Amino acid sequence: MSKEIQQILANLPSVDTLLKQIDSNYPHGKAKETIQQVLAALRKEVVAGTRQTMIDQAAVLALVHKQLEEKQFSLRQVVNGTGTVIHTNLGRSSLSPKVQEQLLATSFHYSNLEFDLENGKRGSRYSHLVSIVKKLTGAEDVLVVNNNAAAVLLVLSTLTQEKEVLVSRGELVEIGGAFRIPDVITSSGGKIVEVGTTNKTHLIDYERALTEETGAVLKVHTSNYRIVGFTESPELSDLAELAHQHHLPLINDLGSGLLLDMRPFGLPYEPTVKEVLDQGCDIVTFSGDKLLGGPQAGIIVGKSEYIEKMKKNQLLRALRIDKMTLSTLEATLSLYLDEKEAVEAVPTLHMIGLSESECLDKANELAERLRPISGLNVAIEKDSSKIGGGSYPEHLLPTYAVVLSGEHFSADALQEKLRLSATPIITRIKNDCNFLDLRTIAPEEYSLIQESLQEIFL
Ligand SMILES: *Cc1c(COP(=O)(O)O)cnc(C)c1O
Repeated sequence: MSKEIQQILANLPSVDTLLKQIDSNYPHGKAKETIQQVLAALRKEVVAGTRQTMIDQAAVLALVHKQLEEKQFSLRQVVNGTGTVIHTNLGRSSLSPKVQEQLLATSFHYSNLEFDLENGKRGSRYSHLVSIVKKLTGAEDVLVVNNNAAAVLLVLSTLTQEKEVLVSRGELVEIGGAFRIPDVITSSGGKIVEVGTTNKTHLIDYERALTEETGAVLKVHTSNYRIVGFTESPELSDLAELAHQHHLPLINDLGSGLLLDMRPFGLPYEPTVKEVLDQGCDIVTFSGDKLLGGPQAGIIVGKSEYIEKMKKNQLLRALRIDKMTLSTLEATLSLYLDEKEAVEAVPTLHMIGLSESECLDKANELAERLRPISGLNVAIEKDSSKIGGGSYPEHLLPTYAVVLSGEHFSADALQEKLRLSATPIITRIKNDCNFLDLRTIAPEEYSLIQESLQEIFL
C-alpha cells in the first residue's frame, strides 16, 4: 500500500466522531450502521485507487446523511409504473387517504379494540365490523382474519374437520405462492371429494357424492383462470338448496369479493358478495386487499350459527388481525356506503376506473415534466394495463404509458437505475424501452419521477 493511500485512510474520521454529528432524529443504531457502511465503501475505493484525494469530514457526513435519508428502512414506498393495479409484489392495494385519520387515531392512542363502551365490559374486536358488513352484504355476522388463505383455513378446519368436502374438479385451484385449495382442505383435517369433470359439473354430480360423512359443499371462485367453451356448473341457488336439504353449509371462497357491480367499469359480470349470499351461500370468504382496495385481511361473512363456531376455534387466536388492519378495514368499508365515493376514494377502484383518455392526459402531463431532461428520450404510447391479483385474468384495460430511453443507457441499465433511486420506480420493459403506465401512477408521484430522472441524467 502506498504512503498516499495510507494517509488518506488515516485521515478518515472515526465512527464515534461522525456519530456525534448525525441528526439525532435518526435511530442511533441505524446511524452507526450507516456510518460503518459509508466508511467501508470509501476505504474500498481508496484502496482500489478510484479515490485519490483526501476526504474531509463534512463530505463523509453528507454521504451518511444522504444514505440515511434514502435508505432509512428496508420496506419503503415505491412508484408502481407497471400498470398492474393489484400487484402482490408491490403491496397489492394502497389505502385511501380517507382512512388515514382513523388509522392514526386508533394506532397511536388507546382504543376500544376489545372493550364494550356501552356496558364497560370486555368486548370483541370483531364486533366493530358487524353493522357495516350487514349493511353492505346483508350477512348476519362477520369474522376477519389475517388474509383470505387464513379465512379458508379457519372455515374448513371449523366446519369440515374429519369430514368430506365436495368440490368440483373445475375448482381445485392453485392461487399462487403454492396455496392450493386441495392442500388447504387436507391440512385443515378434511377429506376432498372431487365431483364432476374439469369443464362440466352438474347438480347430480354433487348429489351422488353426498354421504353420511359429508361436512360441506365448497365453491371456489376461479379467479385466476377461466374454463371456457363447453362448460357447465349448477346454479348457486340450486346447489344451496341441495346442501340445505342435507343440513350442510354451502361455503363460497370468492377470492376478490366484490362489493359493487364492476360492469360500469367495462368489466365482465362477476357476482358481488351480497348476491352470492342472497343465492343461499352460508359462508363467503374474500380478501381485503384485492378488488376491495383495503388492508390485507381475510373476511368471512355469513350465518351466525357457523361464525359462532369459528369464534370458538383455537386457530382464530393464531390468525387474528391487529387493530391497524381492523381500523383501516372499517374505514375502507365505510367508503362503500356511498358507491360514488368508493369509486373516487378507493385507489384500487379509482385506477381501474380511469378511462383511456384520462390515462392519456396523465401521460402528457408527466411527459411534459420529463422532456427538458437532456439525454433522456421521452415518448407516449398506447398500451394495456392489467388488474392483477388473480382478478379478471383475461381482461386488459386500455391505457397510455410514458416511454423512456436513455442515450447512454441500455433499457436494463435504466430500469435498474430507476429501481435503485431514492424512491424506487418500477417500470416494465417493452421494445427495449422503459414503460411507465400512468394508470398506476398518482399525480403526486410525478415530481418523484422527475427528480429521480434528473439525478440519473445529471
Ligand atoms: C387470492 C385468493 C385467495 C387467497 O387470498 P389471500 O388474501 O391472498 O390470502 C384464496 N382464494 C381465492 C379464490 C383467491 O382468489
